[in-house]
Amino acid sequence: IVQWTPFFQTYRKQRYPWVQLAGHQGNFKAGPDQGTILKKLCPKEEKCFKILMKDVLRPYVPEYKGLVASDDGECSYIQLQDLLGDFVSPCVMDCKIGVRTYLEEELAKAKEKPKLRKDMYEKMCQIDQDAPTDEEHKVKGVTKPRYMVWRETISSTATLGFRIEGVRNADGTSSKDFKTTKTKDHVMEAFESFIDGFPHALTKYIQRLQAIKATLETSDFFNTHEIIGSSLLFVHDRYTANVWLIDFAKTISLPDNVKIDHHSSWRVGNHEDGYLIGVNNLIKIFKTMLEN
Ligand code: ATP
Ligand code: MG
Ligand code: MG
Repeated sequence: IVQWTPFFQTYRKQRYPWVQLAGHQGNFKAGPDQGTILKKLCPKEEKCFKILMKDVLRPYVPEYKGLVASDDGECSYIQLQDLLGDFVSPCVMDCKIGVRTYLEEELAKAKEKPKLRKDMYEKMCQIDQDAPTDEEHKVKGVTKPRYMVWRETISSTATLGFRIEGVRNADGTSSKDFKTTKTKDHVMEAFESFIDGFPHALTKYIQRLQAIKATLETSDFFNTHEIIGSSLLFVHDRYTANVWLIDFAKTISLPDNVKIDHHSSWRVGNHEDGYLIGVNNLIKIFKTMLEN
């Protein structure tokens, strides 16, 4: 259990601990305007938000309010709508979408000098003694690309097209302990406990996810970008529930000659991200929960 509160936010005369479920703690600060936060600038992400403010997806992402320099002028931040602003003691869940969380170019770079890595072999053994091959056990090492591909199979990323990154519960406790939450049943258990005591949230989440799916299918942004490491942020309280797309730091425009459908299997080099596999599985799992 972790308390993950980089700062206190003030909004509508309320002061509350802001919740951050992923990323470095130093990457976020309270924003200069009411109801906003600052995230450390990543130029790729800023480019995406600029496009998104003119795309049909705009209602489904935090509003982007421009660049802000840090007090010492050392670095810049993007100013974003604080999605928690309209909630009272919100429950928050970050689900990272897609069948892989590294870029094609990151894998290609790892393949350039594929040295045997003892540290990665050991991490692999810690999670699953049987994961390394006989050969890898013999040399007590694995290559980085091998490790990168394997790592996506220990959570639900490779199979379901999403994984839970972190959850903040109603009682204020948080957990980021989902690295090996892999099966549909285990994911569903985590969702059940997330919405426990908030039955209205389930139907609202399903409706919103269906609206997101329909909008993605008509979005120019979605059509022309490979979306890696991006999340859906689920937020609910006693009164309401909502979902937004966040984190575009690894979202890049597709090369001119490449088209993806976000649904086909990923093969090295085809740029497919599996974004819709994740969204469809989320909808399916939430619908199953509604029937139970
Ligand atoms: P990583 O790449 O490790 O996922 P990051 O530094 O790119 O992290 P984000 O994923 O964008 O950061 O955000 C981290 C966390 O901060 C999210 O899980 C969420 O809890 C919170 N967060 C981000 N943006 C917002 C927002 N606009 N409103 C409210 N909460 C937010
Ligand atoms: Mg993130
Ligand atoms: Mg990120």
